[in-house]
Formats: sequence, C-alpha cells, structure tokens
Amino acid sequence: MKAIAVKPGTPNSVHLTEFPAPKLEEIPNGRGVLVRVLRVGVDGTDKEINAAEYGQAPPGYDFLVIGHEGFGQVEAVGANVTEVKPGDYVVATVRRPGSSIYDLIGTSDMTTDDTYLERGINLRHGYMSQYYVDDVQFIVKIPQGLKKVGVLLEPTTVVEKGIAQAYEIQRRLRVWHPRRAAVMGAGTIGLLATLVLRLRGLQVTTFGKIQKPYLNSDLIEAIGATYQSTEDLAIIDGAKKYGPFDIIFEATGFSPVAFDSMQALGKNGVLVLSSVTGGDRRIEVPADKINLDFVLGNKVMVGTVNANREYFEMGVKDLAQAEAEYPGWLSRLLTHPVKGLENYRELFDKLTNTNGAIKVYCEVAEL
Ligand code: BGC
Ligand code: ZN
Repeated sequence: MKAIAVKPGTPNSVHLTEFPAPKLEEIPNGRGVLVRVLRVGVDGTDKEINAAEYGQAPPGYDFLVIGHEGFGQVEAVGANVTEVKPGDYVVATVRRPGSSIYDLIGTSDMTTDDTYLERGINLRHGYMSQYYVDDVQFIVKIPQGLKKVGVLLEPTTVVEKGIAQAYEIQRRLRVWHPRRAAVMGAGTIGLLATLVLRLRGLQVTTFGKIQKPYLNSDLIEAIGATYQSTEDLAIIDGAKKYGPFDIIFEATGFSPVAFDSMQALGKNGVLVLSSVTGGDRRIEVPADKINLDFVLGNKVMVGTVNANREYFEMGVKDLAQAEAEYPGWLSRLLTHPVKGLENYRELFDKLTNTNGAIKVYCEVAEL
C-alpha cells in the first residue's frame, strides 16, 4: 500500500513509499481493527517532523509514516471485537501507553515517561497510508452524520482535554460558574477552543494578531464570540475591556502570550497553556506583579498536551452539538483539501506556505 513517510533526522525528507498493508493478526487477542483511511489532517507537528526537529522512526525502521489526525472506515475486525463493525467511521487516538502508572490506567496523555509513543509522531507509524490496524481500545466510533467533519476530531480532543482539565481543577472552588473566557490565538486550535467554550455557554473573546474581517474572525463571530485583534488592543487592555476572564485557553504558539495571559486572568481563574514552543526565546516580564496577582487572586495555570480516549469521546459529542447548533460551521474549517497520497508535496506546500489555511488535509480516499 501507499504511505507518506519521512526519514527522521533528514530535513524535508517527506516522500511517498510502498509499505506492506497491515494485517488484523498483528493485534493480539482478536482485538484488532483494520481501518481504510479516508482523510488525514496535518498540523504544526507534521511541519516540525518534516523539518527533522522532532520525530523518530519505529524500532526496526529507518522511516516514519506520518499523520496523527486520521479519519477512516472499518474494513474488518478481529474475532473478539464487538465495539465497531465493518463500515463504521472511526478515528484512532495518537499516544500509546508507556510504563508509568498513568499509562497503566488508560491515561497515557498524562504519562511521566520521558519518551512518548505517538502514532505518526514518535516511534510508531501514523495514519497517512491506505490502511492501518490498531487495538479497538484505541479506536473511537464516529457517527455517520459527522463523516464530513470527522477529520477535525483529533485537534478537537486537544481542546477538550485542556478545558475538561480546567473544569476538573476548578472543582476546588465548589461554586465555580465561569462566565467570561478568552482564547489566545485564532488558528485551528483557537477556533476549536472558541467553539467548545461557546458550547459550554461562556462569553468568549478570541484574540488574534490579524485585523478583522477575515475568515477566522468571521468564524469566531458566527458562533457569537468576539474577535479582538491585538494590533488594536493589547491583551492586557483587552482583559480590562472584556474580562475579568474566568478561563483563558492559550493556543498562539508564541510563549510571550502565556505571560500576557497570566496578567489577563481574573481572580480564581484558570489559565490553560497548550502551545508547544520548541525555541529558546527569552523575554522580560513584570515578575513581582505576575506572582503577586497569582498569589492574591488564587489563580491556577495548567499545561496540557495530547488526549486520551475519554477526550475523543467528548470531542465526538461536541462535534455533534456543533453541527446541531451551528450547522455548516465545522466544514468551513476544512479550507485546504489535497487529493491523493501521491500529492504529498502539495500537501506540505499548503501546510507551510498558505496564509489563512485553517485545516490542510489529505483526501486519501472518497468519503
Ligand atoms: C498532537 C498531540 C501530541 C503532540 C506532541 C500534537 O500535534 O496533536 O497528540 O501529543 O503533538 O507530540
Ligand atoms: Zn497535532
């Protein structure tokens, strides 16, 4: 079968490869699911992997099949699989269990291991191929009515986890009824965070660099959130205008915004950090003031990465609610389809060079 792979360690090594199709029998105990891939999204992580900044080949291979935002249809199942059947639409989770206690209880997203096992990212082949197999415990069923937007599930789960963790943390307050939220960044994750917070009934202000109107600001306003360009109003002043913020979701990819967000957070608030910032940027911050306000305001800050099955299931519900409440909105995020695995160059070109791309994805096969 065809697959798109990179040679970890070699920059810009993305290529089409032939690779034996996986077999159900590779998964023990008759618990395998063979999936025919329909669509695979790409994001900043894929960019980093192709730049050889991140990612390792699985043991015994000198290449890594990329793709962690999969969407496909079940082709066949093992004898002991009852959860899904051929024809069902599915998405597989990304991280596989390591050895920490968190991995053992089904929460590998919280692993304390130093090495992550992540399909399409690190040490495990991904989904950018015609087929893949996995254990049904990592496979999540997508209702038929969501097939057009199913490729958005994996990025949604990153948001689901961050927000669910924030609510979980805030149980400390016993009477937390968040009303005002801010989202930093209006990219794919920022848009999805805005959506999920709107679905929770919050007033949301989403901060982005670009001045409106543009597609992302239109999308934000279409679901009743406010878009604010930081060219016109700095985040800290934005907090005075639209805050105090009970919850802030940071997804700009630019670490200084994390420190602005700390200052924009209201009393008893929770700040969720989700940007993976690989650089070594340094900035000067008003350390005394930030620390003092955190202490006097009983504030919390939490980092979040990846998502386990529970957040995939939440994501499915929210995608369904989104389709019911804001019909057609999710499809507007699917800005840059690329047909066929063989057009991997175009896929990476769109990912790296398109201004205004919200979701670039490969249409591996017809829906
Ligand atoms: C993926 C996560 C993964 C993270 C770190 C992100 O792009 O969506 O599932 O944990 O990269 O590798
Ligand atoms: Zn990702």
